Amino acid sequence: MGTLTGIFGGTFDPVHNAHLRVALDVVEAGALVELRLIPCHIPPHRESPAVDAATRLHMLRMAVRGEPRFVVDDRELRRDTPSWTVDTLRTLRADFPDRHFCLLMGSDSFRGLPTWSRWRELGEFAHIVVMQRPDPGRPVPDALAEWLRGREADGWGALRRERSGRVLFQPVAQLAISATDIRERLARGGSIRYLVPDAVWDHIQQEGLYLTPS
Ligand code: ATP
Repeated sequence: MGTLTGIFGGTFDPVHNAHLRVALDVVEAGALVELRLIPCHIPPHRESPAVDAATRLHMLRMAVRGEPRFVVDDRELRRDTPSWTVDTLRTLRADFPDRHFCLLMGSDSFRGLPTWSRWRELGEFAHIVVMQRPDPGRPVPDALAEWLRGREADGWGALRRERSGRVLFQPVAQLAISATDIRERLARGGSIRYLVPDAVWDHIQQEGLYLTPS
């Protein structure tokens, strides 16, 4: 039986309460020993983040303060190359050879998986835990549906027994919060209080972040 560690990558532009709550739901459901939140430097699948990497990292560190199971891992920010998740998982495997990893992703990210570099190789390094977002549950692309066949796990036991390659659909809190909506509210001069941790909101106000539409 392997020790399960969660890996949660994202732009975190900015980190918000839904990121934190759904991640904690997964940690508790799977009794994960640790969840590593990994902000990406150069997101390969989308436009450049609205604020710089150091600021996103700083806000993430403030957000997880007080939750010992959450660890902020800045390995992607220390690389100059695009943040391909498969490369990140390879480095994690090298650093923690005895652990089993599960890669957390929202249902929107999961549907986009076939656009990721060498996405089929992800299963060599980690399990995938899909968290349904409050969005219309659109079907997954054909290539993904085919890859999924035979991989779907019916519980956490399979993720402990097997080293990698299984996919688990984990129910989580349905929170209709997105970083896009948060940036739009700020650009309109609105408040994002209660959508992000207080420390993050304070920092955004102090630094005047996200005031221009991205
Ligand atoms: P944006 O609106 O800028 O795309 P986002 O809110 O989706 O940002 P990201 O940093 O891009 O945040 O997402 C990191 C991961 O968190 C992704 O796998 C995404 O699917 C997941 N995620 C974000 N918001 C939620 C949510 N409300 N519920 C479940 N998963 C979420």
